[in-house]
Amino acid sequence: MLLAEQRRQVVQVGLDALAHGVVHGTSGNMSIRDPATGLIAISPSGIPYPAVTPADIVVVDEEGEVVEGVRKPSSETPLHTMVHRERPHVRAIVHTHSHYATVVGCLRPALPPILTEVALVVGARVPVTRYGLTGTPDFGRSVIEVLEPGGLAVILKNHGLICFGDDFERALGVAEAVEEAAKVYVHALAANGGREPDLVPEELIPEMRERFFASYGQPKTPTAG
Ligand SMILES: [Zn+2]
Repeated sequence: MLLAEQRRQVVQVGLDALAHGVVHGTSGNMSIRDPATGLIAISPSGIPYPAVTPADIVVVDEEGEVVEGVRKPSSETPLHTMVHRERPHVRAIVHTHSHYATVVGCLRPALPPILTEVALVVGARVPVTRYGLTGTPDFGRSVIEVLEPGGLAVILKNHGLICFGDDFERALGVAEAVEEAAKVYVHALAANGGREPDLVPEELIPEMRERFFASYGQPKTPTAG
């Protein structure tokens, strides 16, 4: 079986996304690219996450042609393959229809820096696409148009959210963080009579991010004592 480990990871991230509440039913889809072969393991179309097994995951090439698999790949395969082709920093993709990110995608050109944590992890703004025709390469194009080099998240206009990482843990973590920030933003807007709430000062974000990435977490090698 091709990409057995990546297939297992696609099954697991679906279950994790479901458990963390960022996907429901059969909505959303996930893929991961194998840098050695360029092949992509992607979730199948229309199967509820708890029922998906590694044999249901579909292996496609970067043009979206099925290389191995008994199921139909996700209907958003052209979106995934375009991002994998055009953004080499992306290995794992998590696409959700999470509620509050979708609300922001109906209201604004971007999710502004409302939460410090998200500004640190994702950057100042999560861009919102123009409206793209779902299931077609145009949808992928609408994402590439606003996805800056190294970008980790894009909100899909009137649709949902797509997040990126070098592995699924990162991509799913970004999806959860953006959804939380979108939730706070929507509530803050409502509580403020629809006026823009206070935001993290944008000019401070580059320095904040530099410090964060230099100092966050435990040292890579254990130290004595
Ligand atoms: Zn979708």
